[in-house]
Formats: sequence, structure tokens, C-alpha cells
Amino acid sequence: MRLSRFHLHTTKETPADAEIVSHQLMLRAGMLRKLAAGLYTWSPLGLRVLRKVERIVREEMDRAGAIEVLMPTVQPRELWEETGRWEKFGGQLLKIKDRKEAEYCYAPTAEEVITDFARDELSSYKQLPVNFYQIQTKFRDEIRPRFGVMRAREFLMKDAYSFHLTEADLEREYRNMHAAYSRIFERLGLRFRAVQADSGAIGGDASQEFHVLADSGEDSIVFSTGSDYAANVEAAQAAAPGARPAASEAMRKVDTPTQKTCEDVAALLGIPLARTVKSVAVTTDDGFVLALVRGDHAVNEIKLGKVPGLGDYRLATEAEILEHLGSEPGFLGPIGAKKAIRVVADRDVAAMADFVVGANEAGFHLAGVNWGRDLPEAALVADIRNVVEGDRAIDGGELRLARGIEVGHVFQLGRKYAEAMDATVLDENGKAAVMSMGCYGIGVSRIVAAAIEQNHDAAGILWPEAMAPWKVAVCVINPKNDADVAAAAESLYADLNATGHEAVLDDRGLRPGAMFADIELIGIPHRVVVSERGLAAGTFEYRARNASESDNLDRETLFAKLS
Ligand code: ATP
Ligand code: MG
Ligand code: MG
Ligand code: MG
Repeated sequence: MRLSRFHLHTTKETPADAEIVSHQLMLRAGMLRKLAAGLYTWSPLGLRVLRKVERIVREEMDRAGAIEVLMPTVQPRELWEETGRWEKFGGQLLKIKDRKEAEYCYAPTAEEVITDFARDELSSYKQLPVNFYQIQTKFRDEIRPRFGVMRAREFLMKDAYSFHLTEADLEREYRNMHAAYSRIFERLGLRFRAVQADSGAIGGDASQEFHVLADSGEDSIVFSTGSDYAANVEAAQAAAPGARPAASEAMRKVDTPTQKTCEDVAALLGIPLARTVKSVAVTTDDGFVLALVRGDHAVNEIKLGKVPGLGDYRLATEAEILEHLGSEPGFLGPIGAKKAIRVVADRDVAAMADFVVGANEAGFHLAGVNWGRDLPEAALVADIRNVVEGDRAIDGGELRLARGIEVGHVFQLGRKYAEAMDATVLDENGKAAVMSMGCYGIGVSRIVAAAIEQNHDAAGILWPEAMAPWKVAVCVINPKNDADVAAAAESLYADLNATGHEAVLDDRGLRPGAMFADIELIGIPHRVVVSERGLAAGTFEYRARNASESDNLDRETLFAKLS
């Protein structure tokens, strides 16, 4: 591609309404244009990245044995009535009517449609197992569409649905999809973690989410360094089926600003009291108070306020907290219970809240309780299962909290949908058997934003190579006035592409500063400058996007470097 013939539209100004860095950079790089709330047009540049993500997802789904289909985005009400979700799905379901007043919805997901397909297409156990997937637009009427394509209303999802005769086979395919997802996120070059999840509105039995780790993530995830256990906070707080039947209910009870003792809380949680830690709230010399509190789903929020006005809490920045505490950096990242407790123990504190730490056979619990003060949020901080025998102390360093962006989700649905919609096949004995199902989603468009949250600097985006719009930018200095330079750049550009190094030629004739700023902003991993001076010396000026220095390389060394 020649940039002179491409449509690249970058801006220097940070758009006022873009709150997080990926949204800002996607707008500045000209990858997106907003049409209306949660609706975006992907520009040619943005689309190149989206398609790369899509391609990797498709390749790995194919490799894992899934088969691609394409379902409509408009779905009839009748199907949703069969599963009861026309009412149950709630406000995210966009309902529409055609000219005959027949009702439809715009697909937020496709369990009903695929189950309808399966009951028509599948009649024998011999056709199982099968996994159908599509990469198709979804619409969810999100209450708060925000952060650009991170939480859009219309977005691109890969959704897959598998059908099985037995639970054991469903579990096998679930593991197969889990492995495929891991490969996808590895190939994309993202730092991610798979965590236990609640299955939410989709329903079903086992479920795991894949999170790209980033501080701006909307989700809190909890993991243990002492084991493989990792969960999103909702799942960590909810009782594992059978293991702690009363735990989440008990925790909700704790979440009230009434006066309770550690013994009360321990009784509510059904845990033997291991130890209590007094005074989790911390006052500083100048009257500020710091308290570990529970926010909206987040357990790792730190709030800061004046002691007398506990109702006036606001979120404190890390810098503010460090300034007031004089604590060493790192205390907040991530804010593990251990650290919070340690900081508390180190400080002269006002006894506003107590924490109770205990364990039952299913895991550890850490709860903060208010002693009759008007701090409404104080409540459960963490609840974690640990597989580790021996050192079971929560302050032994096993608990970690991190922020994540949910980019994938795998579910074992079981027979819920197939039963409701009577999707059966004949088994080996010729008897009708309801199929068991799994479903597996990936937020293809969200991945693009998540990758930027994880990979950026002050100059712009740093794409992992697999997602970059191009691998190499060939920047030509003064091409219009220097035919030799222009010709050398053309030849380099052609050779790069011919040898599999996807290159873009910046032949727009911009001043070097403006040209380099664009190439950095849009995140091209490798930049090669072709100039009169370099030509005379027989070299190209090469710089990796994540490096601060350039090297002058001859052609052979340059190609070796890129390989
Ligand atoms: P979230 O918790 O972020 O609302 P979800 O759990 O509702 O997501 P799923 O039903 O699991 O989403 O859908 C599969 C995937 O689709 C998610 O893992 C996510 O990556 C993506 N996704 C869901 N909602 C959106 C959205 N509004 N914008 C962009 N991607 C989304
Ligand atoms: Mg959602
Ligand atoms: Mg979710
Ligand atoms: Mg989900």
C-alpha cells in the first residue's frame, strides 16, 4: 500500500469525550469514526487491524475443528419465546418490528438461532460432535456504551456453539476451545489470563473468561500465586456449586452498614476465625483517611477523604495515596489484601473498621466490617479458593488482584437450550436424546482496543506484530524532488512485500517530523527511512517502534533484522 493512495486521517488533538487511552488513540490514529452512541465506522486503517484479529481467530477456530457458518443478525421473536429469553434477556435486547408488525430482535448472541439450525440439520448421533462458529455483528443496547469499541452497542463477535451426545464429550470440546483461545491470544501477542466466571445471562454450568490484563479494565480478577486458581471477582464471591452453598448469601448480608463483630461475620460466612486485623482504615497526619472499600464490582478501590466527612469519599489516585501515606511505590499494584493489611499494621490508625480473615475447607475469606460508622461500602473484600495445602494464611502472599478486559468467554451450557427447543438426535439405540451444548465467544472488535490499552506509549500505539496494520513502514524523505531516493524506496518497498514483510510506503512527501509522528501514532512495528544521505552511504535508517535509537543498516542486515 502507498499511503499517498490510502486514506489516513490522523489528528494531534486528544478528543475530549474519549476517556481511556485506546479510545483516544483509535480516534487520533483515525481508525474509527463515531456515528452515534456505541456505533462506529471502521476506517480503512482500523479495518486492516480488525481483519487481522479476525483472521487469527478464524484460523485457530478452523484448526480446532470448528466449522464456519453465517447466521442472520435479525432474529424472530418466536425463537426467543421458546427459551423464555424474549422477556428475560432484558434491556440489552433491541426489539424491532417489520411492516407486518411481526417482531424481531437484533442478535445480541445466537444460542436460539443455532439451536434451531441444529434441530433441523442434526438427526443422528453420528453427526456429533460438531462445533459451528460465525464471525458476525452483534447488537446489545448497553446502558452505558463507552470507551469506543471496547463497550460498543454494535460490535463484532466470534461466537461458536458445539453439540454433543454426552457431558463428557462436551467437557472435551470445552477444553479444546480453551486451548484454541489460549493459542489465539498468544498469537495476537497479548498478555492474558483465563479465569473462572459466573455464567450470567447465558446460563449453564462451567464457564471461564479470558481477560487481557490492563489497568483500565472494567473487570476485577483474583488469582492465587500459590495455585492455578483464578477467577473474576463475581465468581470468586459466588459460592462454587455445592462447596459453600450459603457463602454468597452470607456475604450479601455482610454488605450492610450495620454493627457487626468479627465473630458475627465469621458466623455469617461459616468460617472459623483465623485472625482479625484491626483498623483497616488509615488516617494520615493531615487528617486524610484511607479505607479499603468495596466499589461497584471492584474490590481494589482505595478511597480518600477527610476523617469527619466519611460520606464524601472519592476515589483517590495512586499518587495521592502515596503522597499521603509516604508509602513505597508498588503498594497499590496490585492491591492485595496482604499489602493493605501490612500497610495498616504499619500505621497509626483510627479504628473505623475491622477485618476478619478466616478459612473454611473451601477457601479463604477476607471481609471488612464497619463498626457502626457511616461508610456504606465496607464489606467483603475477597473470597478465594486455594488448592494449596500447608500454608493457608491469606497474608502469606497468595492473593492477587488485577484488572482485566474480558475478550473471550467459554461456557458449558449443558442441555438448557436444546431441552427448551427440543433439539434431539437419535442415539445408538435409536432413541431420541437431547443434545448437550457449549458456547464460546470472542470480542473481536474489543480485542483491538484491549491490545492498545496494553501496548502504547506517549507517541501512540505499539501494535503486537500480528495485529499491526503493516509490519514495516518505508518512509521516503523528499520523494518529489529526489528521483533516486524515490526509486530506491519503491524498490525496497517491493522487495519487502515480495519477501513476506508486509510494508507500507509513506510517499506522501510530508516533512520527516510529521511523517514519523504519524507512523508512530498508528503503531507500525518497524520503520525504515530512505534518504539521500543514506543512499549515498548505502544504508537505510531503521528503528523498531519500541526502541529509542535508530540504526543505519545495509540492505542485507535490514532484511535479516526483519526476519
Ligand atoms: P461484558 O461483561 O464486558 O459486558 P459479556 O460477558 O456481556 O461482556 P459475552 O456475552 O460473554 O459478553 O460475549 C462474548 C464476548 O463479546 C465478550 O467476552 C466480549 O469480549 C465481547 N463483548 C460483549 N459485549 C461487548 C460490547 N458491548 N462491546 C464490545 N464487545 C463486547
Ligand atoms: Mg455484557
Ligand atoms: Mg462479562
Ligand atoms: Mg461474558
